[in-house]
Amino acid sequence: MCASPNDIRIPADLLPNDGRFGCGPSKVRPESVQALADVAGTWMGTSHRQQPVKDVVASVRRGLADLFSLPDGYEVVLGNGGTTVFWDAATFGLIEQRSQHLVFGEFSSKFADAAAAAPHLQDPQRIETEPGTHPVAQAAEGVDLYALTHNETSTGVAMPIERPANTDGALLAVDATSGAGALRWRATDADVYYFAPQKVFAGDGGLWIAVCSPAAVERIERIAASGRWVPASLDLLTALENSRKDQTYNTPALATIFLLDQQLQWFNGNGGLEWAAGRSDTSAATLYGWAEASDYATPFVADPAKRSPVVGTVDLDASIDAPTVSNVLRANGVVDTDSYRKLGRNQLRIGMFPAIDPDDVAALTRSIDYVVGELR
Ligand SMILES: *Cc1c(COP(=O)(O)O)cnc(C)c1O
Repeated sequence: MCASPNDIRIPADLLPNDGRFGCGPSKVRPESVQALADVAGTWMGTSHRQQPVKDVVASVRRGLADLFSLPDGYEVVLGNGGTTVFWDAATFGLIEQRSQHLVFGEFSSKFADAAAAAPHLQDPQRIETEPGTHPVAQAAEGVDLYALTHNETSTGVAMPIERPANTDGALLAVDATSGAGALRWRATDADVYYFAPQKVFAGDGGLWIAVCSPAAVERIERIAASGRWVPASLDLLTALENSRKDQTYNTPALATIFLLDQQLQWFNGNGGLEWAAGRSDTSAATLYGWAEASDYATPFVADPAKRSPVVGTVDLDASIDAPTVSNVLRANGVVDTDSYRKLGRNQLRIGMFPAIDPDDVAALTRSIDYVVGELR
């Protein structure tokens, strides 16, 4: 049977309860939205310089320290503009002269591009591998910051966070935007672990958060004292000093901070990082297991050890048009399963963040099977 895509109606008993599978912004839990609605009259539209908001910023900073079991001396710094703005801040305030970048997709290439464009830095070193794999950092003469990406959201590859040997004195900085809160790591293995709240933390965009080791704090202070010109909104020392007072340099989005705090309470109240990671692991086992067993779907990432538990990429057989499948799903209320456009593959990309119910991922695979059965 070969149905017209517009006529396909997925039976209600196959559909997920919640149809949001995007990789950022990703599903915000209804419980968090309700909690925000409950306090809206005394929260939205109030001053971020007063205690009620500062208390929640403090709760976020404490919640992250708990979630990541941060040792003494580690600091949670935050500012406005999301991860992309943090890259610019890092080119000013973290890289002393030269950085090394592991490039294996769209997001990891962007920080390398930002460093390459900065006139006050030497040309960065890029170690690049094909999409679907990841490179490994290697000690190099003159490199003072090693830039890793915990989860490459454009390809669905996750990598372990490990310090390369013989890099004493250099910083290890990790873009953990789509992995932080659902991928395991040890705080002592990184100096700057940075992210934004619209992925695992099921909040909204516009904020960057950087967990900084004592060595990173020392670097920020040293560069700030060196006389290098830094725009005030990108000044990491300014961000650090404001964060210590549970503030941001300029006005943050209050809803974003509130939703982030809700998600942290949900994680920490249920068992912390291990619990959150376990939810994504369950979803990933379902998705990749389904794809491996399917006669028309294949996990894009060949090495199972590199497959992301939070962003699943699944190639479809050439006889089935993946954008059509995504469009039919969308028409049935299941949204944002499209692949990363620039990757240019016949692919579905599925968010499996902890907020997404593992049962819904199972329902999604049944819904995809139904759609493909109708299209064939
Ligand atoms: C989403 C994402 C970004 C960009 O985050 P913004 O907050 O939109 O700037 C950067 N890196 C990775 C790995 C991402 O997944």
